[in-house]
Amino acid sequence: MKETVGTTGLSLNEPLAFELGSPGRKGCSLPAGPADAPPASEILPAHLMRDDIEGFPELSEAEVARHFTRLSQWNFGVDSGTYPLGSCTMKYNPKINEEIAALAGFRDLHPYQPVDLVQGSLALMAALEADLAEVSGMDSVTLQPSAGAQGELTGMMIIRAWHASRGSERTRILIPDTAHGTNPASSALCGYEVVQIPSGEDGILTPEAVAAAMDDQVAAIMLTNPNTLGIFEAHIDAIAEIVHARGGLVYCDGANLNAVMGTFRPGDAGSDLIQFNLHKTFSTPHGGGGPGSGPLGVKAALAPFLPIPVIERDGDRYRLDFDRPDSIGRLRSFYGNFAILVRAYTYIKSMGAEGLGLASRMAVLNANYIRAQLKGRYHLPFETPSLHECIFSDRNQRLHGVHTMDIAKRLIDYGFHPPTVYFPLVVPGAIMIEPTETESLTSLDRFIEAMIAIADEAEADPDQVLEAPTRTRVTRLDEVKAARKPRLRWLPDGD
Ligand SMILES: *Cc1c(COP(=O)(O)O)cnc(C)c1O
Repeated sequence: MKETVGTTGLSLNEPLAFELGSPGRKGCSLPAGPADAPPASEILPAHLMRDDIEGFPELSEAEVARHFTRLSQWNFGVDSGTYPLGSCTMKYNPKINEEIAALAGFRDLHPYQPVDLVQGSLALMAALEADLAEVSGMDSVTLQPSAGAQGELTGMMIIRAWHASRGSERTRILIPDTAHGTNPASSALCGYEVVQIPSGEDGILTPEAVAAAMDDQVAAIMLTNPNTLGIFEAHIDAIAEIVHARGGLVYCDGANLNAVMGTFRPGDAGSDLIQFNLHKTFSTPHGGGGPGSGPLGVKAALAPFLPIPVIERDGDRYRLDFDRPDSIGRLRSFYGNFAILVRAYTYIKSMGAEGLGLASRMAVLNANYIRAQLKGRYHLPFETPSLHECIFSDRNQRLHGVHTMDIAKRLIDYGFHPPTVYFPLVVPGAIMIEPTETESLTSLDRFIEAMIAIADEAEADPDQVLEAPTRTRVTRLDEVKAARKPRLRWLPDGD
């Protein structure tokens, strides 16, 4: 194996805390009390006394610190290294976001505090709504949805409510074959039938295909722009016109907004609704299941249907408006994942409008650099220029019996988080790479070097790739079994 930075890491095994330490060892040493001091059980109220836990670990401070630090090192995150997980925008999250979210005035808020005592937080939320509206070209924004998928669901509920308010019950949603799985799921949850539209040869929708599927039973088209191939839907204007002309709405899945900030506003190209994945584009932590935040922006005609409460400005004060007769109602408890909103707002303000535009252009540049450098070694299914992510396939490596999953596993040996694999479904053996703007030229070059080394290995010594990962604490897992029957206990014999 060719050595590159990150390939010779220290991988420390770690038993359970219960298996560490020895009786009588202490975390901290207190001065001895008076000889005649009564036992704790006589001084402390009974409800504060803990029953003994059998074999309770007795550890020194250093052992505790190392135990948890080592466990944290079993994880891989955006603070550990390059994380080119396509469609997920795993950019580095600046620490200033964390510092601001940890300010006592934000951190110690309680959702039941009266509106008079949380004016600053409401002002922040209103300002964030306005910024997101500005970035996307929408008129109103709700911050409540807790994930991209919940933003989509909120959008679908609003689409249904809007049609119902016009006395129409439409039944279908058009979705391109490159869509993220949440798109058909959100539509189906709202009771809609999903009609899949095939993309054209260059990876984007054609107006003809949309026109052929569009009729007066179609409530909306739901598309991602740029789409999940990283390709800009260049016919969006014509497509929006076709859908609007037959009384339908245009929903834009905004999870890929990171590619176009400051360059393209979906609202200017006919989109009526869009969700923002704050935990992708707006640099708030994600992975491991949350917390996320998926605000939804809408055009003015749809604003009456937004979920309650809506933040309203009243002179120089803010209030929460619950009295909205056309609203789809409550979406969740309280007002959204507030601490995530603070991080996103901090990010937007620290970047500024120009900074956000530059971030998008850098994201596009980085993805295209990787695309250009790996072209030739890895098969590129689409020649159409791509934006923030690039899609390869394993077609060249398959000739040697090496598949996408093997390449992904081998990247772990080289010290990189694997890209997204086998998605989008329209590309067999897809390898979807999204470096994001926060990777430097140095780290892009290292990643490219590792990908090329793996392509060399696939030709010269495929077994090396097929057996990967070999430099990790555990080697290739039975993934189905690992998901269905996780075994969370470390056993020294590797059983
Ligand atoms: C991530 C993503 C979603 C879903 O967002 P979640 O916050 O994970 O629910 C939807 N569409 C696309 C294109 C995405 O990349």
